[in-house]
Amino acid sequence: MSDQDRSHELADRYGRALLPVFGTPQRVLARGEGVHVWDTDGKQYLDLLAGIAVNSLGHAHPALLSAISKQAETLGHVSNFFASAPQIELAEKLLELADAPAGSGVFFANSGTEANEAAFKIARRTGRPRILALQDSFHGRTMGALALTSKEAYRAPFEPLAGGVEFLEVGDEQALANALAPGDVAAVFAEPIQGEAGVRALDPDYLRALRRLTREHGTLLILDEVQTGIGRTGHWFAHQAIEGLQPDVMTLAKGLGGGFPIGAVISFGQHTHDLLQPGQHGTTFGGNPIAAAAGLAVIGTILEEGLLTHVRDVGEELTRELLGLAHPLIQEVRGAGLLLGIGLNAPVAPQLAAAALEAGFIVNAPNPTTLRLAPPLVITPAQLATFTAALPALLEAVAPEGEN
Ligand SMILES: *Cc1c(COP(=O)(O)O)cnc(C)c1O
Repeated sequence: MSDQDRSHELADRYGRALLPVFGTPQRVLARGEGVHVWDTDGKQYLDLLAGIAVNSLGHAHPALLSAISKQAETLGHVSNFFASAPQIELAEKLLELADAPAGSGVFFANSGTEANEAAFKIARRTGRPRILALQDSFHGRTMGALALTSKEAYRAPFEPLAGGVEFLEVGDEQALANALAPGDVAAVFAEPIQGEAGVRALDPDYLRALRRLTREHGTLLILDEVQTGIGRTGHWFAHQAIEGLQPDVMTLAKGLGGGFPIGAVISFGQHTHDLLQPGQHGTTFGGNPIAAAAGLAVIGTILEEGLLTHVRDVGEELTRELLGLAHPLIQEVRGAGLLLGIGLNAPVAPQLAAAALEAGFIVNAPNPTTLRLAPPLVITPAQLATFTAALPALLEAVAPEGEN
């Protein structure tokens, strides 16, 4: 069978064996190494999406491979009736990186949505009935996280969702103050950069207001750093770009395991420590030794390779180069570090992503006017330059009539 026949055959079998929730996959991928992946036709792609901000170290990084395989040889799974050294070490490491005060603690889950479910339960345990989230938020697809997610198309088919959640307009401090005033709000959930909404960073002043006002009203500030955490923005956590700002609870997942599934909730300080009592939450797989070893390898490599500085430098350079193209379709470049959204002047992002794929670049369109880039943190300027060099022609190919 030729490579192409093999690809068609696999795509066909996918359609018959898997539920259609994701639509038709764009390609069947066969292998990855560094910042590249190859499909089953043998075609190479520069991976500028990294499995949606997940493959922090790229594909098949030796440090991650070795950590996972060594741990699998030693001890793979124990359940939470037992502890393991990697789990404890990773929790300690996360608390250290988050600069978490005494009384802080970690709960491990397996995904972003699960981390947010746990955070939701922590919020409920305050005993207060209302929860605030932001318009255009994305917190995941399970029923609790979905209740915190504003997109009507995701929510409507599954109502009734968990109750008590209200959505606030992003950036409106007065609306926030009014909503918090009665003193019955358990928590405010926010993403420092709204990734799925098109890589839209909260204004630093609004984030400061969120912190100040929630503290004033005894409301928890819960930051969803599932997409922005673990070095993605050039800080360990995006909120650390703002001096002195610390949430009460933070959720993590995507980049933490570098491709191995793991999520985490960090609760900051004594006042959040005992909200979840023994027996009130749990998970079979969460914090298993292999996932924890993967997390430790990702964090260790970010430290050893100086990737935080690298991400800031490379992200700034990429932003400059993209803006330097001065293309009429490019309106702006949003985001931070290596989580960037190219804001377009026309709703052609899906066509642009498809054209990029044809040309050997994996990117994505979280909405019709945004192209999202979230490459492996290890990507080099030279590798990124191949994309900026190709972009003008791709933009020309999708430009609406009259804009060429
Ligand atoms: C991806 C994402 C989630 C959901 O994570 P899953 O691992 O897909 O469940 C939650 N919040 C944010 C901000 C995300 O980007």
